Amino acid sequence: MNQRKIDFINNQAQTNPSPYLIDVERAEGIYIWDKSGKSYMDMIAGVAVNNIGHCHPKVTAAIHQQVDQYLHVMVYGEFIQDAQLNLAKNLQSILPPQLNCSYTVNSGTEANEGALKLAKRYTGRSEIIAFNGSYHGGTHGSLSVSGNEMKKAPFRPLLPHVKFLDFNKTEGLENITAKTAAVIIEPVQGDAGVRIPTQDFLVALRNRCTETGTLLIFDEVQTGFGRTGSFFAFQKFNVIPDILTLGKALGGGMPIGAFVSSQEIMHNLTFNPMLGHITTFGGHPVVCAAAKATIDVLKEEIWIQEADQKGQLLEDLLIQDPEIFEIRRIGLMFAIDMLDFDRVKKVVDECLDKGLISFWFLSHPNSFRLSPPLSITAEEMKKAGEIILAAIAVTRR
Ligand code: PLP
Repeated sequence: MNQRKIDFINNQAQTNPSPYLIDVERAEGIYIWDKSGKSYMDMIAGVAVNNIGHCHPKVTAAIHQQVDQYLHVMVYGEFIQDAQLNLAKNLQSILPPQLNCSYTVNSGTEANEGALKLAKRYTGRSEIIAFNGSYHGGTHGSLSVSGNEMKKAPFRPLLPHVKFLDFNKTEGLENITAKTAAVIIEPVQGDAGVRIPTQDFLVALRNRCTETGTLLIFDEVQTGFGRTGSFFAFQKFNVIPDILTLGKALGGGMPIGAFVSSQEIMHNLTFNPMLGHITTFGGHPVVCAAAKATIDVLKEEIWIQEADQKGQLLEDLLIQDPEIFEIRRIGLMFAIDMLDFDRVKKVVDECLDKGLISFWFLSHPNSFRLSPPLSITAEEMKKAGEIILAAIAVTRR
């Protein structure tokens, strides 16, 4: 291992015992280049972040323009800043009228923290219902409503009054009662290995929340901004949540999260207590300028409409391999099942060698995941399929 890698491992806190160690030089479109000049086809996009590709020129131009004007000027919500306001309006333009008020934060997990607090404050209730298999982030509140017990156990005690139901099972929904402040759910579970619910389930969930006065939170941190083949997954299922949480692709490569609700619900963060959720850097102008430009790009391009077709193309190629048992896919969000983690790891490592980045799931070891930029072309999709099939063949026992 060279000195640079040793420095990285020793001096920078590590959470993965065997990181990829790609030494990044630059990134553009669907490609990342390392310092030796090797190019990688990025079929993960920072885990569903770079939906419009790396360094989109409209995003970098918006960033440059804002950097030249001003950086941080005041904590969230005190000063009127063009970049924040333009982003809020752009978000509204792609959301239904019930979701007309947004609060920008720094990450997906913070968006969920804000949403959970908002639901508790609005309903005056404390119980939260979440789903087995879910992943909502790494901070204490989000971890409390995430399903993976192995990841939670060392950090207990976590939030009290959290119950878990089975994803996509209408039978458990009677557990949502007038005591429940919020139900939080990923409309398509990501980390559980891309679990796609039926529309009936989400409709029944919506109805039960409405009956009991419970706020329904859709965590679209991963599924948002075209990943599933529509701007948001909730549009695919025709079910509108009370609170929507966003992150990842929203920033076009910059760090941002947001929770969105109605003005009526969101107003509750203004009093009892005032400043009900606060964050110094939330809504940072440079990040908001990037996010506004990202939404513009997604509105202007037809990538979202093409996601299903391009996804199908790769699915049809990969499913031909006898070692691939099942592919769960919606839009350009894939989980590809193989025999076990050992097989998955060999294929993922071989793909990396061949210049293609794929990744695994925290909670589903026998799958590997793909979430390429939506800007990928059909040709590039085919090329990716060929590389993955070759990686499977070379590593076959
Ligand atoms: N919610 C979902 C569905 C996610 O997939 C993630 C991250 O993978 C998060 C929340 C947490 O987002 P962040 O890592 O920005 O805190």
